[in-house]
Amino acid sequence: MKNENTLIHDHDISLICDYFSILQRQGPGSPAMTLKALSFIENLDTQSRIADIGCGTGGQTMVLAKHVTGHITGLDLFPAFIDRFNKNATRLGLNDRVKGISGSMENLPFEEEELDLIWSEGAIYNIGYKRGLEEWRKFLKNGGYIAVTEASWLTEERPSEIHKFWMDAYPEIDTIPNKIAQMQKAGYIPIASFILPEECWTDHFYIPQVKSQNIFLKKYAGNKKAEELVTYQQHEAQLYDLYKAYYGYVFYIGKKLNNM
Ligand code: SAH
Repeated sequence: MKNENTLIHDHDISLICDYFSILQRQGPGSPAMTLKALSFIENLDTQSRIADIGCGTGGQTMVLAKHVTGHITGLDLFPAFIDRFNKNATRLGLNDRVKGISGSMENLPFEEEELDLIWSEGAIYNIGYKRGLEEWRKFLKNGGYIAVTEASWLTEERPSEIHKFWMDAYPEIDTIPNKIAQMQKAGYIPIASFILPEECWTDHFYIPQVKSQNIFLKKYAGNKKAEELVTYQQHEAQLYDLYKAYYGYVFYIGKKLNNM
């Protein structure tokens, strides 16, 4: 049954790709917050191996690439995003050390203990935060870092409308202390966490979508699924406006604890 709570994954995948590929980012975030998270990561150099998992078209990857000297592999399930990612890397002259590949975060193509840093903004929810932290850990060197953003409750209690929305969309959403405890239990030292400020959702995510929605609706005039997708995105933006005191995206940064 379709209603206003239709989940994004019910929409046609190619429509979703088309909708998001014209945007610079496919999730909330900002260059300033990417750099803030990066400021907690130590020991990177020209030899470093970095993976950006669920990189989308690479908005945050290119920001990272301009501030680190090592090699970055962006990985995303959707080849259309990866095409755009690689074009962006070439346009910025970064293609000698920044490469996008398509693949699944459930089956990463890296060697054990190959990576110095795993990055993932707005994407780990696709595998689940806990499972992602546990399964990706083996690809990190001892002392390597992980930096992810994850939907989190900011308060112990919240109005039922927003609670229900998230229970349908991503029941693994939890409070910040619980997310940090999960990181520790998964074998990382929790190094830092901070809440993404409101402009990461508005100026960098929902506001650019307004223009894209007009282009998209013209392109798919009369397509019911396309209209539903736009309605869903608008609904999500309205919910954020109403309930932003109760939830947000939080950056969690951890350091792989040496194997004992
Ligand atoms: N990191 C980007 C994109 C976030 S949107 C940004 O912050 O802008 C989430 C991304 O995860 C999408 O690009 C989606 O294609 C990707 N994704 C979803 N499931 C995936 C999977 N199983 N493996 C790899 N990527 C996946």
